[in-house]
Amino acid sequence: MEQEKASTPALICQISNLPDEGIDLEGDVSFEELDIQSDYRFTLDRPMHYCLHVSLAKQDVVVTGRLSATVTAICDRCAEPADLHLEVNDVLHMYKNILGQPIDLTEEVREDILLAFPQSFHCSEDCKGICPTCGKNLNEGPCGCGKKDDGDSRENPWSALDNLKL
Ligand SMILES: [Zn+2]
Ligand SMILES: [Zn+2]
Repeated sequence: MEQEKASTPALICQISNLPDEGIDLEGDVSFEELDIQSDYRFTLDRPMHYCLHVSLAKQDVVVTGRLSATVTAICDRCAEPADLHLEVNDVLHMYKNILGQPIDLTEEVREDILLAFPQSFHCSEDCKGICPTCGKNLNEGPCGCGKKDDGDSRENPWSALDNLKL
């Protein structure tokens, strides 16, 4: 984890002379600068990318754009880390009566990207998870636990299906 703090927050926008067509802001900001910490589920080891457009609507400043980031997330089924891509495509913030003042976008961007974190995460659609009996990661292959049934199921592969009540 990087410890160095940026001396000036990356997402402060000085708009005293905003041109009619607005301005584009594009760059990377670390999660640390956004004051978002890694936790046991998500490791925020790469910066978030922002691509924002700042424009004027009468006396208001309007910020639109996109945010994206790739973080390392722990799979809810198998507990292995995998890349998770986060994307916010509908950034929209309005700032009233602040012409001539610098706008700090940090707080709004922080809220936006926080909402992009999912409640649950699976490393893949068909992650098999871990065996509840022996704890083996079943994505790496079957464990022996299922084979301890009676001998019948081994001789007739369909009998196991018959037992399933669908
Ligand atoms: Zn998984
Ligand atoms: Zn097992």
